[in-house]
Amino acid sequence: MTYQSINPNDGKLLKSFEHLSNAQLDKALAAAESCFQTWKHKSFAERAVILNRAAALLHAHVDDFARLETLEMGKRIDEARGEVKFSGDILGYYAQHAESFLATAHLHPKHGKAHMESSPLGVLFCVEPWNFPYYQLARVAGPQLMAGNVLVVKHAGCVPQCAIAFEKLLLDAGAPVGAYTNLLISYEQSDRVIDDPRVKGVALTGSVAAGRSVAARAGQNLKKSTMELGGSDAFIVLDDADLDLALPWAVWGRMFNVGQTCCAAKRFIVLDAVADEFLARFKTALEALLPGDPMIEATTLGPLSTETALLQLLAQVDAAVKGGAQLLLGGERIARPGWFMQPTILTDIAPGNPAFRDEFFGPVVSLFRVKSEDEAVALANDSDFGLAGSVWTRDEARGRRVASRVDTGMMFVNNIDWTDAELPFGGIKHSGYGRELGRMGIQEFVNKKLVRSGAIAAPV
Ligand code: NAP
Repeated sequence: MTYQSINPNDGKLLKSFEHLSNAQLDKALAAAESCFQTWKHKSFAERAVILNRAAALLHAHVDDFARLETLEMGKRIDEARGEVKFSGDILGYYAQHAESFLATAHLHPKHGKAHMESSPLGVLFCVEPWNFPYYQLARVAGPQLMAGNVLVVKHAGCVPQCAIAFEKLLLDAGAPVGAYTNLLISYEQSDRVIDDPRVKGVALTGSVAAGRSVAARAGQNLKKSTMELGGSDAFIVLDDADLDLALPWAVWGRMFNVGQTCCAAKRFIVLDAVADEFLARFKTALEALLPGDPMIEATTLGPLSTETALLQLLAQVDAAVKGGAQLLLGGERIARPGWFMQPTILTDIAPGNPAFRDEFFGPVVSLFRVKSEDEAVALANDSDFGLAGSVWTRDEARGRRVASRVDTGMMFVNNIDWTDAELPFGGIKHSGYGRELGRMGIQEFVNKKLVRSGAIAAPV
């Protein structure tokens, strides 16, 4: 495993980076621990100055950050710009709200007084994926730096330049050395970091396989961890759905970031009454997407992030078809340089087919027809994952009832407006545990300490 920045639009190597030596890694951990000793005593207002400056720098240099991301992992430039702005918003939001989220809470026991106070845990180790190279970092950095923790971060091997750019952003904003450190390290070194007694918590976003490995290591060390893993979200179209509303969201929900989103709509579960129309219109919309250089605004279908990702997806589609699924659209690599795949639709996926349970991390639609609302809910819940999902119906109360019956960490009714700086994000089952963002996210790595005071007579 190496850190290599390769342009997914043409496969050209842009830059490669060496791993840190163990001596450099130890130095970075020592700097983080030493920084924590002062950072934890800073006021919220002092920390907020730095986070607000970082937010302003992101907003002032949207294009520079976005172009780097497009170059390195192939996200279409408009989407990349949106991500940079949103990352800035997240940093700004926690600069403003962290203090109120972490304010002392007063309790009312029968005797004496009691309160819960919050204090930071220390150095946190974050392992992050490439699909949102800045947003994923902002999601941990905003809340956790404001909470008084410091971060050492292992970003994905294919986005080293974005990883370095985000570290520089915080240093440029005035963060002391050690508050946020990017680590270019191997998996063995990652284990070493988790084992290190200076590290007090571990947050990972990534695949189930990575989650199992990193969570197990954190568990051996009895360290708190949060896991934001994969998903196979259901997009449930009920018989009274407004298809004019649902279809653009279906296209966006599956094709945003070329389908490489944890909470993308992946399993389209459509009631018979509307299935023919939904499928025909969905297919037409996917066929109209225009592959091209993601740096050009007119492009509507960018490349996948790496050649490995593309080959894995093609193999998954192949296995699905061998397992009896019907290929209604696409299924092939696009004949041009770079790592482009045709938008693909699979139907007739039976329970024994690997495609029934696996996550497709790319532009592949799995479409299921069902006869009733109950069948839709049962199918949505027949998944190892439990990240998010959506329900489409003209009757919003019905939509909320269905949403309540689906076993996931997040549900959306008549939208898939996935994330907001103030909304908690996370899943259950193999999609992981814990939450990032929101009042819940910022509490994950703080000591919630109970203090009970008052001279209470001892029991006799
Ligand atoms: P991945 O291979 O698990 O990589 C994610 C990160 O984990 C990378 O930094 C990777 O490093 C690192 N990693 C993997 N195995 C590791 C190990 N044994 N020890 C230490 N670090 C390890 O994930 P991916 O396939 O690139 O990303 C896509 C997955 O992430 C999908 O399943 C997606 O659904 C999920 N995801 C979830 C969320 C969420 O919030 N729930 C958000 C985004 C993505 P290297 O790159 O160096 O291998």
